[in-house]
Amino acid sequence: MPTVSRQRFLRWFAELADIGRTETGWNRVAWTPLEIEAQEWFRREAEGIGLEVRKDGAGSLWAVEPGAGEGPYVCAGSHLDTQPDGGAYDGALGMVCALEAVAAVREAGEADRRPLAVIAFVDEEGARFSTACFASRAIAGVLDIDAVLAAMGDAPKIHGVTRESLLASRAELARVACFLEVHVEQGKALVDRGQALGIADVLAPRRRYRVEFEGESNHAGTTPMAGRRDALVAAARFVLAVDEAARARPGAVATVGRVSIAPGSTNSIPGRVVCTLDVRALDGATIDAVMDDLRRRFGDAAIVQESMSTGAKFDDGLRQALHRSAGASGVPAGDLPSYAGHDAGILAAVVPSAMVFVRNPTGASHSPAEFASDDDCVAAAQVLAGALADVAAR
Ligand SMILES: [Zn+2]
Repeated sequence: MPTVSRQRFLRWFAELADIGRTETGWNRVAWTPLEIEAQEWFRREAEGIGLEVRKDGAGSLWAVEPGAGEGPYVCAGSHLDTQPDGGAYDGALGMVCALEAVAAVREAGEADRRPLAVIAFVDEEGARFSTACFASRAIAGVLDIDAVLAAMGDAPKIHGVTRESLLASRAELARVACFLEVHVEQGKALVDRGQALGIADVLAPRRRYRVEFEGESNHAGTTPMAGRRDALVAAARFVLAVDEAARARPGAVATVGRVSIAPGSTNSIPGRVVCTLDVRALDGATIDAVMDDLRRRFGDAAIVQESMSTGAKFDDGLRQALHRSAGASGVPAGDLPSYAGHDAGILAAVVPSAMVFVRNPTGASHSPAEFASDDDCVAAAQVLAGALADVAAR
């Protein structure tokens, strides 16, 4: 059984937290020199524990055990980038847990096992170009390469990324036997349950819609209330109905996050309103039920689906290994769905993948207020180390 070093874990976490720290939060935004600085830190420390580090065609770093060749490897990892004014834990916690867990498994000295690797994915946050999970999508073969490159200008150069290198990066997937990612929880479910860790069972499917309300614009003073067709009043009823429809179904969440009003003048009745709608649930049937409800009640509105992700199921064998490891370490853990996108969620569709969430007492995310205690973070690294050793054993 590998044993992680609390002292080394905390030193690594503090060192990474020093990169991009500002008074308003952490700013290691992807495709900037601070992401590169974090990569240089990762390369140095990974080499320090005897791993060999190389960059792939999507810009990600792979730290692999010497002699492991082309793999496939038992992989752990996360991302080094943050949102603008993001937190210290999102991404960084997963990277330090992966590095520490792999170090501990190597130190445990079990000779007959499969090789390990740590992957530092580039641009998980998609903060600059709406390219979330850029590098995991690239190797999974689901990145729209021409569309993202058209949107990114010169930015990819900083990691040496080109159209050709992105196409070539698809070959990396064959090197991943499986992928495990630790992540700070982006909510407070674990605090409420009194559990330090949550082991992801499903990645919730998500659909996004554009909803349009057509009314009639006219003078705000001279048009009597009777006979008005105010598009914003219709949209307001819709927003309330969205809230009700999601509350009525366990596990569903639905959000109208953006509203634009035309003509948008204090002196005019809104003639046209366009809003976004984001719906997530534990399964597609529940999203269907929410949408059927809304379409039935708002037949006049134009509701158009703009994007969707089908969600994913995390690998049962890896989940069991994580539960066994948590049990062996005496760490309270339960199952927890993921309602946000992650590199492990992208990979789950193409290779066995799993995720561990770490209790976040503030419940904050993409903010410097996000938090996890040292004890919980070290426990997550220990549980990951035990699971990696288990999964890698022959
Ligand atoms: Zn993240």
